[in-house]
Amino acid sequence: MASAALTETTGGDFARLRRRIGRLVTSNYDISDRCNLRCEGCLFFAGDDYKRYRPETDLNRWRAFFRSEAERGVNFGYFAGAEPSLELERLRAAHGVIPNGVVFSNGLVAIPRDVDYRIHISLWGDDAASVELRGAGNRKAFANYAGDPRAVFVFTINAMNIDTIVPATRAVAEAGSTITFSLFSPTIKYADSAKALDAADLRYFRHRDDAQSPVLSAADMQRAGDRIEEARQLHPATVRYSPLYHSWITRPEGLYDLDEAGVATNCGNRLSGRHRHYNVDQSATSAKCCSPNLDCRDCRAYAMGYASYLKENVSPRLREAQSPEWLEVWTLWAELFLGDSSVAVAAALDRDPWR
Ligand code: SF4
Ligand code: SF4
Repeated sequence: MASAALTETTGGDFARLRRRIGRLVTSNYDISDRCNLRCEGCLFFAGDDYKRYRPETDLNRWRAFFRSEAERGVNFGYFAGAEPSLELERLRAAHGVIPNGVVFSNGLVAIPRDVDYRIHISLWGDDAASVELRGAGNRKAFANYAGDPRAVFVFTINAMNIDTIVPATRAVAEAGSTITFSLFSPTIKYADSAKALDAADLRYFRHRDDAQSPVLSAADMQRAGDRIEEARQLHPATVRYSPLYHSWITRPEGLYDLDEAGVATNCGNRLSGRHRHYNVDQSATSAKCCSPNLDCRDCRAYAMGYASYLKENVSPRLREAQSPEWLEVWTLWAELFLGDSSVAVAAALDRDPWR
């Protein structure tokens, strides 16, 4: 869709985009260990890591913690959990000192407007698919976020909900919001059928042994791309997605080089001294990334995927031609993760980046 329109990208476009986005120092924060849903294969609960950490409950400690993060230079936070909307005062503590951020929420509890972060609301299909995969439909999330400029709905595509991409997009369009897409990525435990499961796991592994599994095949990912394009044709102002990115995130040869432990060595989302992930007790994770439960072999989740796409495509091309492909995906990232900044980006580029 957008790629043809961007073929005349210039270094000037790049410089304007770069100025617009600025220099971001990012980190990830789990601020809640509670959730009001039970989604199939949840990244947080379908593993064992969450059992190790007890949440910090002293709000003053959260305020001090985020102040120290801001002093460390963090100016962009990714807020997750389990469900971050259940800990509004912790979100407010972050919002007071960290100017940019994204809250990954299921949308069931409305986050008040004073928390002026981007809000990414997970969708797992149309109402019927959502009830099947996570135990609740979408009505409440649509009611809470209809027309909210902070919100974008993020449809996690799995093998069981591909045919609901078009109707779910229609529902988002009717709610006056926008939609983008992520790909279901199994956790290590989810992908390993030999793992012993306990009662807590079984709340998140309902379909693991069914003939129907949510894990995507190559054919599923191809079909998903076709359905997204159909949805975009029907609702061009609603769909915010890049076919270039979809081709990259679904490439058959795989995305990452893996070390002997199966960890992606060239992933753009690996933790570092600067880009950190904190558990709900405020301890810093020493694991590979913000989602240590995920299996790197099949990791195609969108926030992580964009980090890797931009890393993989940026270095050689930045030095040379500031490629239009990279600019397209970076502009998409800016819209999804910075919100109105990307409107300004599109205006600065004097074009609609989506056609
Ligand atoms: S809403 Fe998010 S945190 Fe809650 S169970 Fe579903 S995937 Fe997990
Ligand atoms: S983001 Fe995905 S690919 Fe990267 S280290 Fe984490 S699980 Fe592996």
